[in-house]
Amino acid sequence: MPVAIQFENSYATDLPGLYVPWQGKEWPDPQVLLLNTTLAQTLGLDAQALQGCEGAQLLTGAALPDTARPIAQAYAGHQFGGFAPQLGDGRALLLGEIVDPRGQRHDLQLKGSGRTPFARGGDGRAVLGPVLREYLVSEAMHALGVPTTRALAACTTGDRVLRQNGLEPGAVLARSASSHLRVGTFQFFAARGERDKLRLLLDYAIARHDPDLTGASDAALRFLERVGARQARLVAQWMGLGFIHGVMNTDNMTISGETIDYGPCAFMDRYDPATVFSSIDHQGRYCYGNQPAILLWNLARLAEALLPLIDTDEERAIARASEVIETTRTRYREEWLGVFAAKLGLRVPDSGLIEAMHQLWTGQGVDFTSFFRALPEAAQGRDDALAALFAEPGQDLADWLAAWRAACDAQGAGDGPARKANPLYIPRNHLVEAALGAATEGDMAPFLALLERVQRPFTAVEGGEEYARPAPLNAPQIVTFCGT
Ligand code: AMP
Ligand code: MG
Repeated sequence: MPVAIQFENSYATDLPGLYVPWQGKEWPDPQVLLLNTTLAQTLGLDAQALQGCEGAQLLTGAALPDTARPIAQAYAGHQFGGFAPQLGDGRALLLGEIVDPRGQRHDLQLKGSGRTPFARGGDGRAVLGPVLREYLVSEAMHALGVPTTRALAACTTGDRVLRQNGLEPGAVLARSASSHLRVGTFQFFAARGERDKLRLLLDYAIARHDPDLTGASDAALRFLERVGARQARLVAQWMGLGFIHGVMNTDNMTISGETIDYGPCAFMDRYDPATVFSSIDHQGRYCYGNQPAILLWNLARLAEALLPLIDTDEERAIARASEVIETTRTRYREEWLGVFAAKLGLRVPDSGLIEAMHQLWTGQGVDFTSFFRALPEAAQGRDDALAALFAEPGQDLADWLAAWRAACDAQGAGDGPARKANPLYIPRNHLVEAALGAATEGDMAPFLALLERVQRPFTAVEGGEEYARPAPLNAPQIVTFCGT
């Protein structure tokens, strides 16, 4: 008997043409390796049932309850700037939607569940390392207060999959999301000139994410603005954590403003706006410092897709959409200032101070995360630990600290930022790599220890020092891969 889950299927019902019905496949030996019991409870699911044999069948897509209407979603997207009119879930299966006990709707999707008609050349598979990376980083992001898809479970399939380093354990990630609607979902119908279907999609997205806009005369424009606001907030939060998504293609930007598709993502250790980890991002298109520009570029692609719904007069539609892009640019700047003001313990953002701080870091090899953790002591006048993060701490650092302390005093925030404004534990790349390597060899202990740290990122634990340190300076540069 499959695990009983009352799936709803609004996407499959409302949006014909945007998916193909599809099935999971049988695996040699499906096992639940990790189950996020807290999330299971939030979703109103029976964690105990999910942990057992039937759970493994469900979470790998082999046996589903009758209420599931599994589908592979279609979408389009700009990948590294080039438009692909036909993408879609090449290796994912949307099982359906779960309405949690608080009445909120969540997609439940499997990744690595086998080839679909959208697989192009891919094998439809996922392997353990990348599945665990998404599990770890998405749960870290959630703990850090960043909107994100969530990891419900990581399962092994019992067979082995060929990747660049040889055969690796096959795995499936089960994740929840407030929806899987992407900028690329809108581009799919827009590229085909299917205005009526585009309208249906907009209505669906509004019902799901912005229900107060239902029936509004300028709904498309206001929807664009809402998406821009959510994404601006999201990217500002990424910037405040040194997070680099790595593949901000328009099919990886959600309408909900949740971070999605953790592939070649990583957190920056030492500050350098040009930091990029992805093996395929040779031009640095998606480097740390470029993420805000890409956010606006991607939003402009959504605007283009929505033009026929914004105004029947194209020129007027373009003028209105452009205004929204400009509003979002301003909004992003405010969000970015707000994020860094909070990290500095300031209630009122001080753009001069925040910009000077970024200048100060330049070329100094400063560990981004450690800098902020050293601030509370520095606020008390003990700035040795902070200065030690700089290759060459000079007068400009002393001047900046003086200006920062003065700003804190003026704002009645003399103690500097609260500890919970700045994480101590982030998923450091070298630790992630080591943990995934060990897990692939069958030893889950380093992964579980790291997961525990990043799920409580603000709380120092005894013996946790190694989790807070950047990689040694002579460590090899980590490279991350997409779609693996
Ligand atoms: P991503 O970069 O992970 O967002 O993937 C981009 C596109 O490639 C998506 O449409 C995926 O479904 C597809 N894809 C990635 N890896 C595979 C794979 N191993 N098999 C089939 N499709 C894949
Ligand atoms: Mg993707």
